[in-house]
Amino acid sequence: MTVPAPSSYLVQNYARAPISFVRGVGCHLFDAQGRRYLDAFAGVAVSSLGHGHAGLSAAIAEQARTLIHVSNHYLIPQQEQLAERIVTAAFPGQVLFCNSGTEANEAAYKLVRLWGNGVHQGRKTRMLAFQNSFHGRTLGSLSITAMAKYREPFAPLPQAEFLPFGDATALEAAFASAGDAVAGVFVETIQGEGGVLVPPTGYLERVRALCTRHGALLVCDEVQTGFTRTGKRFGYQHEGFVPDIMTMAKGLGGGVPIGAMLASPQIAALLTPGLHGTTFGGNPLACVAALTVTGQVLVPAFVQQVTERGDQLKAGLVRQFGASAVRGRGLLLGVQLESEPAALVAAARTQGLIVGPAGNRTLRLAPPLIISAAEVDELLERLAATVAQLGREPAPSARQSAPARPGH
Ligand SMILES: *Cc1c(COP(=O)(O)O)cnc(C)c1O
Repeated sequence: MTVPAPSSYLVQNYARAPISFVRGVGCHLFDAQGRRYLDAFAGVAVSSLGHGHAGLSAAIAEQARTLIHVSNHYLIPQQEQLAERIVTAAFPGQVLFCNSGTEANEAAYKLVRLWGNGVHQGRKTRMLAFQNSFHGRTLGSLSITAMAKYREPFAPLPQAEFLPFGDATALEAAFASAGDAVAGVFVETIQGEGGVLVPPTGYLERVRALCTRHGALLVCDEVQTGFTRTGKRFGYQHEGFVPDIMTMAKGLGGGVPIGAMLASPQIAALLTPGLHGTTFGGNPLACVAALTVTGQVLVPAFVQQVTERGDQLKAGLVRQFGASAVRGRGLLLGVQLESEPAALVAAARTQGLIVGPAGNRTLRLAPPLIISAAEVDELLERLAATVAQLGREPAPSARQSAPARPGH
């Protein structure tokens, strides 16, 4: 019996735009017809150094010629070097490498479980997370992801409790009613996928203080906000606290898949040989890519430049859409729309501009971190042309219709 050929041999789990890019240079992408697009999305905040970066591609090519993969059965000096660099930029601890954001959160989740089950003899089992959160698509990460469209089809999931993001009183009450049974609190320092939602100033410090008081681990998901995306090396550094565990991925490898989890020393020590692992995680090729990226994006002058470009972009967006519609930090910015962003994202493409959606009717801008001042101006011009093209629709909302309370 013959099976009819499908129109595509790919699983149809993505709503893909009808376009494919064949090459890129800096902040620009080119399609097969040679049309040029300004990339203000960076493949979901991944391509920090832009496209076709000479240093990155040379380092990858050199490592590919030398040694791509050996497995974690052996010492990998590039992992040591990269881990030291991450620790130096963040907080004292030890690093585990993996291949993606969801795997980094999966590792963090398992570590929190080990801690609650072992150190606390099973007395700490409850997981707290936040409304509008996104932590990834594997079942553990999905269980702490709030957005119903991602989680509900896959129920039942491990238990988690979702609290309003930005509401310290609600968290205090949740801790009070849970006794000291809370094992971990998972939080994005800016909720990216949820709609570029920035917590009020001082909120994350309160979360830290409550975790400390009730003996719960604080896990900061920096998968989207890490590696200078928000104008600090890591998003938590906008405030004066340190998490127990931090997860990373997107911007780390400049497009080469790599994720990482950093845990403070006493917590990291719970992952003894055999308890967790990955075949590919932190292979020499991925580590060399990440060493090249971090060698640039963690340098103070580069961080300062991201802050300046972010301020420039935000000011331009505020002029176009009004202060109450614009939120985010550094080069992770969102614009509140009145309708779903799909029409605007599609119209922007016809204006040679690549932008992305986020939840809660948000337009998401996350250009490569190397974007120049002139390119920020170009971005703003193309966005204005897009909005003009769409006429009055979708009109950005002046009122605050996002569920959280953006601080900036
Ligand atoms: C993208 C993202 C993830 C998941 O990362 P993947 O690499 O897609 O698994 C997790 N957390 C946050 C905050 C993210 O933005």
